Amino acid sequence: TNHLYDGLLAVGATTPDKTFALLPGGRHFTYGEVGTVSARLAHALLAAGLQPGDRVAVQAEKSLEALMLYLATVRAGGVFLPLNTAYTATEIDYFLSDATPRIFVCDPRKVSELTPVAEKVGARIETLAADGSGSLASAAETQPARFTNVARAPGDLASILYTSGTTGRSKGAMLTHANLLSNAEVLRDTWRFTADDVLLHALPIFHTHGLFVASNTVTIAGGAMIFLPKFDPEVVFAHLPEATTMMGVPTFYTRLLADPRLTPETTGHIRLFTSGSAPLLAETHRAFEARTGQRILERYGMTETNMNTSNPYDGERRPGTVGMPLPGVDLQIADPETGAPLPQGEIGVIEVKGPNVFAGYWQMPEKTASEFRDGWFITGDLGQIDADGYVAIVGRGKDLIISGGFNIYPKEIELAIDELPGVAESAVIGVPHADFGEGVVGVVVTSGETSEAEIITALGDRLARFKQPKRIVFVDELPRNTMGKVQKNLLRDRFADLLG
Ligand code: ATP
Ligand code: MG
Repeated sequence: TNHLYDGLLAVGATTPDKTFALLPGGRHFTYGEVGTVSARLAHALLAAGLQPGDRVAVQAEKSLEALMLYLATVRAGGVFLPLNTAYTATEIDYFLSDATPRIFVCDPRKVSELTPVAEKVGARIETLAADGSGSLASAAETQPARFTNVARAPGDLASILYTSGTTGRSKGAMLTHANLLSNAEVLRDTWRFTADDVLLHALPIFHTHGLFVASNTVTIAGGAMIFLPKFDPEVVFAHLPEATTMMGVPTFYTRLLADPRLTPETTGHIRLFTSGSAPLLAETHRAFEARTGQRILERYGMTETNMNTSNPYDGERRPGTVGMPLPGVDLQIADPETGAPLPQGEIGVIEVKGPNVFAGYWQMPEKTASEFRDGWFITGDLGQIDADGYVAIVGRGKDLIISGGFNIYPKEIELAIDELPGVAESAVIGVPHADFGEGVVGVVVTSGETSEAEIITALGDRLARFKQPKRIVFVDELPRNTMGKVQKNLLRDRFADLLG
């Protein structure tokens, strides 16, 4: 058996005529085709020299064929390694040197630039274009439509997924067949996915959210997805009537809110909207409910752990929280220094344990060892659990500001700034300060009239003195990556000299 593939396709394999994906333009792709297309690609991978455990690195535009390449790699006993489409040749060089894949699949438009990079690490280069064409498709065409899956045990690697690189250099998270399958099962059950579901899929598939949370959960339920190349409100509103559910990052929801087409009529038939990958402002949650009557379900996870917590499907979905630990996941709030569990209500580092937690960082045994404590994985996120068990994320450990010996949680200050008139959103950072070590700086995007003096004065009676920003600076927009994560490291670099 092949633990992940057999588990994911248990339902779909029995319904070959059922739709797996709907593509813009009206093309339907069935579960039968999932079987045959992934079989042909799996043969092509073996023909290209793939051995069990070999990495297949892929930097390709989002396409159904790219998703089939993931399943083909799993079937062929390989380790799927998707890469952000925005990465430059220099970045690809780092990832390929680190991961030493047997095969590297790239966009045909980049093949001349990336061939030397692949050659350097001895990887064979293949191409895959956004329309599914390329050398890989040509090689697959003549292969048989049936494939005997390479046997893989629960503990074997299925994927190496690099983290987003928000807090430093990306690390390769080694994910096993059991990590991925167990999370898919839990999410299917928790979010009630069935074969009748149609997921609007507008997320990238080089990240855990679009690749595993979205695709695996639909696949294991035997459901279908509307597979869109990217989040384009025109296309999203055109396809929303056919969907039963949508998964998004917070920026999807703020963009929907900015669109007059977002109404109870256009969304009333959707049974579930979920959000994750970055914090969803409580204000966005409330505005979405006010406009549509729908309460977005926010959940929390990371590349290394798949999903850890979720707001309840039936119970209260509490804005500004990420809900409770998923079944099978243990979660504790610990003292960052000692690892001792903290009393309910206190802020500390979130630690998790469970079948979802990865097997370690690729070729970083020391880093892996330092991120685990007594079997708990130290997420690096700071959180707090309320009296009802809801987990709230107050920021990342690396974004914590220490000023004059006091710990300052940026989130608290951001929430206070965001409430002020004329403020659209904010990011609070610590920058070097001669006396205090670090000083608080508020980076603000305005939505109307305001000024540095007005904001600082208004915060005067809301925040303790040591938490008050020393400076407020205005920017047109916050730097965000494709998943909607604010890149505070870029802001810290940009404003490093602000407080002298
Ligand atoms: P790196 O680890 O390389 O610095 P990264 O942590 O951003 O990058 P990912 O694994 O893509 O890489 O993101 C996981 C992180 O995303 C979590 O640790 C958490 O900080 C954040 N996150 C995910 N979901 C939520 C959420 N619902 N609310 C707040 N933060 C979230
Ligand atoms: Mg991380």
